[in-house]
Amino acid sequence: MTTSQSYIRLRFPRSEQDNLIQDILHSFEPLGFLDEEDYWEAYFDTLQWDDGVRGSFVEALRREDVSLPYDIERFEKENWNKEWEESITPVRVSERILIRPSWHKVEEQEQDIVLVIDPKMSFGTGFHATTRLMLRLTERVAAVGDRVLDVGTGTGVLAIAALKLGAASAVGVDIDEWSRENAEENCLRNGIGEEMTVLQGSIDLVEGPFTLILSNITKLDNIDMLPQLADLLEADGRIVLSGFYSGDGADVKEAMRRNGLEPLEDMHEDEWMAISGEKVRRSEERRVGKECR
Ligand code: SAM
Repeated sequence: MTTSQSYIRLRFPRSEQDNLIQDILHSFEPLGFLDEEDYWEAYFDTLQWDDGVRGSFVEALRREDVSLPYDIERFEKENWNKEWEESITPVRVSERILIRPSWHKVEEQEQDIVLVIDPKMSFGTGFHATTRLMLRLTERVAAVGDRVLDVGTGTGVLAIAALKLGAASAVGVDIDEWSRENAEENCLRNGIGEEMTVLQGSIDLVEGPFTLILSNITKLDNIDMLPQLADLLEADGRIVLSGFYSGDGADVKEAMRRNGLEPLEDMHEDEWMAISGEKVRRSEERRVGKECR
């Protein structure tokens, strides 16, 4: 096979869908896989990973109902560690929100909310569409004084953004140990102290109530957790969900409504989607119930 001097790396967080995704990738003949404890990677030559292959891969995931966020990076053969670091450049997420790694200075505009995020091995660099969608919807629904829960905090990027948008406090929770460490480091980089707590484990560790919940995990994890998330949310509290494809939006909205959460707004980028919603007050639920009878 002709090879170029550059490669594509796909990185997936560990999940119960690993075998299924790896089977799909095998059919595209990757150069290899790298297995680590908390994530795994597949490597392709850039000549192999063209738009056709990428499209077929996304279609195969959709057919199998896999909606696991993953990172794609291109890197050069020579010196690729340095290349990788340099490839983490600032990302303009919205008119106000900008993400930059600590080693990359930027000229800030007066209105900029700059999030200093060093990614390490955690998800949440701003290079994935779901992170950007979450940030854009968070910017629209966040209120000064919010008490925020960030489920699957990764680098901590969403909770840090919410605090910079005026939240009073935030709890970030993640099952990964290095995400907890990385989120704590990123808090320090952003001058955030006691107002943010980072927990390692599941949402069972969390005590509410919250006024804003952010959750960028998978479609199935979001749907499974919705009853618990709805309980942790105050009446009139807001929620932002992502980590699923646009084609899965109807299922997620149905699950939201089942749990007393009214969808407010959708956002889409590439094949990904985020939805914001609001907790319906109990009295409104009762009123709606009466009108139905
Ligand atoms: N919040 C970041 C963002 O929006 O970019 C990172 C999101 S990343 C797609 C999902 C994160 O959720 C990963 O860091 C993963 O370790 C974590 N995670 C997966 N399942 C989880 C669960 N059941 N409870 C808590 N965290 C979970």
